Amino acid sequence: MYTKLALLIDGEWIEETNAGSQSVLNPATEQPLGRLPHAGKPELDRALAAASRAFESWKGTSPYERGQIMRRAADLMRERVDHIATVLTLEEGKTFAEAKGEITAAAEFFDWFAEEGRRSYGRVIPARISNMRQTVTQEPVGPVACFTPWNFPAVTPVRKIAPALAAGCTCIIKPSEETPGATLEIARALTDAGLPKGVLNVVFGVPAEVSEYLIRSPIIRKISFTGSTPVGRHLARLAGETLTLATMELGGHAPVIVAKDADIQRAAELSMSIKMRNTGQVCTSPTRFFVERPAYEEYLEYARAFVEKQVVGDGLNPGTTVGPVANERRVEAMDDLISDALSHSARLIAGGERLKGPGLMYSPTILADMPGQAKAMTHEPFGPLALVQPVDDLDQALARANALPYGLAGYAFTSSAAVANRIAEELAVGVIGINQMVVTIPETPFGGIGDSGWGREGGVEGLEAYTVEKYVGHLHL
Ligand code: NAD
Repeated sequence: MYTKLALLIDGEWIEETNAGSQSVLNPATEQPLGRLPHAGKPELDRALAAASRAFESWKGTSPYERGQIMRRAADLMRERVDHIATVLTLEEGKTFAEAKGEITAAAEFFDWFAEEGRRSYGRVIPARISNMRQTVTQEPVGPVACFTPWNFPAVTPVRKIAPALAAGCTCIIKPSEETPGATLEIARALTDAGLPKGVLNVVFGVPAEVSEYLIRSPIIRKISFTGSTPVGRHLARLAGETLTLATMELGGHAPVIVAKDADIQRAAELSMSIKMRNTGQVCTSPTRFFVERPAYEEYLEYARAFVEKQVVGDGLNPGTTVGPVANERRVEAMDDLISDALSHSARLIAGGERLKGPGLMYSPTILADMPGQAKAMTHEPFGPLALVQPVDDLDQALARANALPYGLAGYAFTSSAAVANRIAEELAVGVIGINQMVVTIPETPFGGIGDSGWGREGGVEGLEAYTVEKYVGHLHL
């Protein structure tokens, strides 16, 4: 039911190395699913050599042909969605329905970039003299190294692989060692779709060692990382030393402003359902809820009623609406943040504790009257935890929303165009959802500001991130 764990290097699936291996666990049972081989220096050197060699032919392959391979891979992913989603749920914990949604979304990213690669237009710049031709073309930046976390093992890797391949780059990706299978299944779809060997290489190992080795290699011309802010800072420093380009998609602590004129029931139910998506382990997860006082108790009541209907359990059980958290670290973080908030006199509205096993089950939790000094108000919970605070007015809501160094996603509910406009202008984040909470689709740019990182994935910007401009001024003699 699970998958064969391996490295993919230069078209070869490698199931054993001299660098050791690690166990992959199912968070719903805490039982092992399989053993994952690690890449040592010999495997990383092979991957680098393969990415470098394959780049020479891949960059010359037409965007049309590159797109055809990606579209075929997307179709294979849709054909295999039940299997890949099962693998994803087994290793990450999210519900099977969410896992299917993630595979479908990942396939759509391939579709988008397959087409967008064909629109990587250059331009002709009017010259100052008549016999001069001034052109700008987009060239692939070169072999890239990507590092992705465990919370979205399908869509996050594809948000990097798809634009890289569409632009003509080759790629070495190190997905999370905790959730390797879904990314491997996507790599399988690509190789089955005809991707030439060496264009995509998948490695696993000790994260700090693998990333440092790849970033220091002169072969790697760009890195793209999704994960926590501290690790992002570290990798950005390494990339700085070698002047390697970088995209950094880091943590968030998303504010939600609920204006008193909003449809409060809809706001509460929608924001709580998005809060509990992937058990709260999402960088754009709504976390700090600022509700205008006249609507505050009504909002909390609808939120509580919604959260108490959730069924926590194994993501493969059809009735489950909230899966386990993905690893023991999240249980510890939730316990710590909740007990700290309660000690600062937060009001417990729902949940608040780990549930009886098997598995890493945590109750969807709402804390109200959140004191500003509680740790959770500044530390990303990355778990099923909603923090609610009353606010006097929009000024106060915006000031509090913008008080953190993070700036990834932000949300608002209001029926007033004036309030919506002001929030759109003044919320200091990279992406905003107003009266809806979908902020990451293939055709729109996604990314943060401040401690949430830099660079954009998706949209035309997602492709540009893997290209460099070349200017040619040609004087016709
Ligand atoms: P972590 O910082 O240890 O790891 C985050 C990810 O980075 C993991 O996938 C890990 O394998 C990888 N990583 C760690 N060190 C690395 C290195 N030196 N080089 C390359 N990759 C490295 O944290 P964690 O316990 O796995 O997750 C906890 C926190 O990470 C969360 O609270 C959240 O803030 C953040 N996170 C963010 C995202 C996101 O989508 N932005 C995803 C996962 C985790």
